[in-house]
Amino acid sequence: MEYNLDNAIRKIPDFPKKGILFYDITGILMKPEAFNYCIDKMEELYASSGVNAIAVIESRGFLFGAPLAIRLKMPLILLRKKGKLPGETYSVKFTLEYGEDVIEVHKEDVDSSQNILLIDDLIATGGTLKAAIELLTKGGARVARVFGIVGLPFLNYADILKGYPVKTLINYHAE
Ligand code: AMP
Repeated sequence: MEYNLDNAIRKIPDFPKKGILFYDITGILMKPEAFNYCIDKMEELYASSGVNAIAVIESRGFLFGAPLAIRLKMPLILLRKKGKLPGETYSVKFTLEYGEDVIEVHKEDVDSSQNILLIDDLIATGGTLKAAIELLTKGGARVARVFGIVGLPFLNYADILKGYPVKTLINYHAE
């Protein structure tokens, strides 16, 4: 069954700062039908895609990757902000609009047998996903697919993620 996801995504102008229209997925989480629709669609897209592990980006990526990992019976790899993971980690520093950020993964969670589906809630510039790909590649894994519930293609994420098959459930365009 198709579901109009747009109805479930809240749009908040000027958040977190002036000029940004924030696409808020908490509206999806509050509507079980919308949330379940997302997981159904993701299952449809990736059940037979050859991926064998799922990696999720803190923190909203966790919400969509975790139920999918259970459905597909695949391991779930957490990519977290600096200092959150207790074990030995790989880490990658990347540039955000203002300043820098670091993401990390447990070394023991990544290896060369993995064909990874990488998930975040929303793809804007693609910078975060690009850093995540670098991180997983450090551990020898292959990122086979990239997914976001929401895409903002006018920010040109296709360029920075060139060579990686990217899918989204709904796209928004510049006003
Ligand atoms: P980017 O690295 O530019 O692709 O930014 C991706 C991350 O920032 C995602 O984890 C999103 O959750 C968040 N993000 C960036 N822009 C927006 C936006 N307009 N609305 C909601 N979340 C956003």
